Amino acid sequence: MFDDLRDLYQEVIFDHNRNPRNFYVMEDADRKVEGFNPLCGDRLTLFLKMDGDKITDASFQGSGCAISTASVSLMTDIVKGLTEAEAEALFAKFHAMTTGKEEDINLEAVGKLAVLAGVREYPARVKCATLAWHTLDAALKNEQEAISTE
Ligand code: ZN
Repeated sequence: MFDDLRDLYQEVIFDHNRNPRNFYVMEDADRKVEGFNPLCGDRLTLFLKMDGDKITDASFQGSGCAISTASVSLMTDIVKGLTEAEAEALFAKFHAMTTGKEEDINLEAVGKLAVLAGVREYPARVKCATLAWHTLDAALKNEQEAISTE
């Protein structure tokens, strides 16, 4: 990755960490699931508003490291308006970007989430980046249990 691109990505991550998007308790949420990454101590509660199989709104609360906060902030923005199937497909691409083989990475397919591509070089941080998505996965499957990355 080029250094100037890496700097730009870090700037976006810092921005989302300093000023997280969709950071509030959604009182009338249709889905609410808690996620926990014991390796790092990241905790979040994800709220979704659904219309049929479409995600119409998403928000979160919690506290975690910069990577986990930026990841859930970006995710709650990007999944609004997606169907469950579209959100799951995006999760699969995000997962491939952070943990998969180099040749499976498609940065264009993940849009803004590409800023988190750098975590694949830091295995300990991958769970920070994927916690939001595992929690979303549980919420879409309507699992009420709190999820843990361990
Ligand atoms: Zn973390």
